[in-house]
Amino acid sequence: MNLSPNLSRRCRTITCWALISCGVAIAPARGLADEPYARSRDYDLQDIRTHLWFDVAEREVRGEVTESVAALRDGVSDFQLDSVDLKIESVTVDGKEAKFTLTPKTLVIALDRPASRGERHELLIRYAGQPKRGLYFILPDKSYPEQPEEVWTQGEAEDTRYYIPLYDYPNDRTSSEMVLTVPAKWITVSNGTLVSVKDDADGTKTWDWKQSGPLSTYLLTAVAGDFVEHEDTWRGIPLRFMVPRGEESKIEPTFARTKEMLDLYSNVLGVPYPWPQYAQTAVDDFVAGGMENTSATTLSVRDLVHPKLAAESRFGDDVILSHELAHQWFGDLVTCKDWANLWLNEGFATFFEHYWIERHYGGDEADYRFWQDQRRWIAQRRLFSVPLETRDFDDSTKYDGNVYGKAGWVIHMLREQLGDEGFFRGLHQYLVANRGQNVVAADLQKAIEQAASVNVDKFFDQWVYGAGAPQFHVDYTYDAAARQVALDVTQTQKPEELVGVFDVPMEIEIATASGAHTYPIEISKATQSFEFPVDGPPLMVVFDKGDRILKSVEFRKDPALLAYQLKHGETVPDRADAAFALGAVKDNPVAITALGDAAQHDPFWGVRVEALRSLGRIGGTESEIQVTAAANDERPWVREVAVRVLGNFKQDPTLGSRLTSLSSSDSAYRVRAAALVSLGQIKAPNAFDVLAAAVNSDSPDAILRDAALDGFGPLDDARAVPILAEWSAAGKPLASRQDAIGAIAELDKKNGAITQTLLSYLHDPHFDVRTAAILALGARGDATAIAPLDEMRKAGDSTMAEAPYLDTALRILRAQPAAK
Ligand SMILES: [Zn+2]
Repeated sequence: MNLSPNLSRRCRTITCWALISCGVAIAPARGLADEPYARSRDYDLQDIRTHLWFDVAEREVRGEVTESVAALRDGVSDFQLDSVDLKIESVTVDGKEAKFTLTPKTLVIALDRPASRGERHELLIRYAGQPKRGLYFILPDKSYPEQPEEVWTQGEAEDTRYYIPLYDYPNDRTSSEMVLTVPAKWITVSNGTLVSVKDDADGTKTWDWKQSGPLSTYLLTAVAGDFVEHEDTWRGIPLRFMVPRGEESKIEPTFARTKEMLDLYSNVLGVPYPWPQYAQTAVDDFVAGGMENTSATTLSVRDLVHPKLAAESRFGDDVILSHELAHQWFGDLVTCKDWANLWLNEGFATFFEHYWIERHYGGDEADYRFWQDQRRWIAQRRLFSVPLETRDFDDSTKYDGNVYGKAGWVIHMLREQLGDEGFFRGLHQYLVANRGQNVVAADLQKAIEQAASVNVDKFFDQWVYGAGAPQFHVDYTYDAAARQVALDVTQTQKPEELVGVFDVPMEIEIATASGAHTYPIEISKATQSFEFPVDGPPLMVVFDKGDRILKSVEFRKDPALLAYQLKHGETVPDRADAAFALGAVKDNPVAITALGDAAQHDPFWGVRVEALRSLGRIGGTESEIQVTAAANDERPWVREVAVRVLGNFKQDPTLGSRLTSLSSSDSAYRVRAAALVSLGQIKAPNAFDVLAAAVNSDSPDAILRDAALDGFGPLDDARAVPILAEWSAAGKPLASRQDAIGAIAELDKKNGAITQTLLSYLHDPHFDVRTAAILALGARGDATAIAPLDEMRKAGDSTMAEAPYLDTALRILRAQPAAK
């Protein structure tokens, strides 16, 4: 699954991993399961055939499911199936009517006599329900008469049981068939192969999808509705690209690189793509960012790439697409045995996003992404004491950042330690040995040792079963007489149960006037000193060259040394580190000049971006001059950052007219959008009029309108309240509503009526609107929202998809000082 980038358009256009740089707390839409340990099973679900009918007007699903099961022990007297809120109409066992009982979460089917181990039975269950989760109806209504009809499912973590009664925990796998009877004009997609489409007598059509390769039931999928499909093939396997009617023009720019991704992963893993089709379907109002259902990924229309914006985006939708595709091996072909091992799914999917970026866009790009992931992980302090493998799922903010960001990093370090040959041979062995099975971390450990002949037990103890990462304090001294640089290294992390002293290899790079030298060292103690021969005073000292170890570092350096590192550092992370560190140096022309030079001339755009951000943090006229000079960068995503950073320079009375001009003249829409937001941020005298005009302008994906709505937040002008109220209301596009809701929350904070309006959106039928309202209420800081948010959090099942957002908002509101 991919985190839900359910945020303002301005943030979304950057790509999901850059979200935190937008200053928005992300809360993923994962409502993780309450079962920390895999169950001991009484029976094995071997095949499941589900037939679904939809009563669209009633938002009801009717189902008939046939399940082949085999008892796994002697004396099994009943079969317990997960089933929530489903009306069970009848149950037969081997064709004979069977007795059953229901608890709130279980369907218990009685057997005539206890089954013995290996005994097989066929269950047939007829049922109906109006699922609160698991299966979603997206339909036109009076506010959205043009909405294409859609029905889609989302099983992870434990939601398949809301629309099919079945064994629903990852530690079992089954072959599957999904039969969908739908209106004739709809199309459908599900797991596996399309066996047939038949016309029914009543004018409906029945689609039959079948998959023989076993899957865990959270990976079952059914998508049906008024979609448009493009078809292609890859090595004889059908590829399907589906979007809601009206979004067809986005198929090409969004999915153009799917075949290359399939080639890359198949080749490097030595395991060809393992399923009989690959479908990618974008749906409206999706409750996640993306979901790797076996052979049929579900995506969100939020992330589709508009053809007119494609050239303005560095990676298009590649980050999510490469993530979900990697899951087809890591997650689907081999599946975590329980949620404690979820990092084996998400860590590999995250790693392979970066691997795709590295191979398609270049190594610097991947290095920069890991550098950003590291900063983000370090900033989430709640994650530090929690190991990758954890069974504490109460609070998503204590594991999501680990199972994605840190786990991707740990796999990255494993690759570094093993080298590409051993690493990919290990992954091949892991996939081949565990194909079609459920895995724990030890399975990966064993496969690597077998294939690469490297014992990785210590590595796993440190990074998988242990928590945290080294926190280094580093000092250096130069002894001119001895011609020596001495490095004193201390690991300052507090040792606790799962956090120890780390043992890590790294390289130190020291440059003098005669050039740079690199020295490998091994750090294994809490305090260590190292000495390096030099031929003159050091101009640069880099600790962990190239940033190969996940860590935080406190290493005070003279601005001149940082400036040298920014200009001459060989790797992107080393230059980005220097750019970031220089942003904390105040009132120093050396820092500003070096950053300005890098902002304009560094060969890698990410370093230019970091230099711009640091200039924004430093502020002042000199910094503004440097940022302005860099604002004509050829890359739109760099210009965008430059223009956003200009929003920090509120003291310049001439800036408003320049931003106004950029908001209509820049060749890239995303730069024009950034200029609108910055205009609001500097509260330019003409900002209200420019933003109000932009709200009524036309642009692809309404990017300018939504940016203008966004800009009204920092502008803080009461005249914007009615405009934002209008655009946050039902009937307006969901993306515009999200921006308007976020912005209105910043205005007139004592106005209880605004808070009341935001509270009313907690009950909006659209997930996107509810989550925008939750985040906006958290940011608004009106304590009267605590009770309704808390009530929603405690309401239980029906709101679990919003739970992580609610946790975040409630934490912010409760942490603030008592209301003034
Ligand atoms: Zn994922």
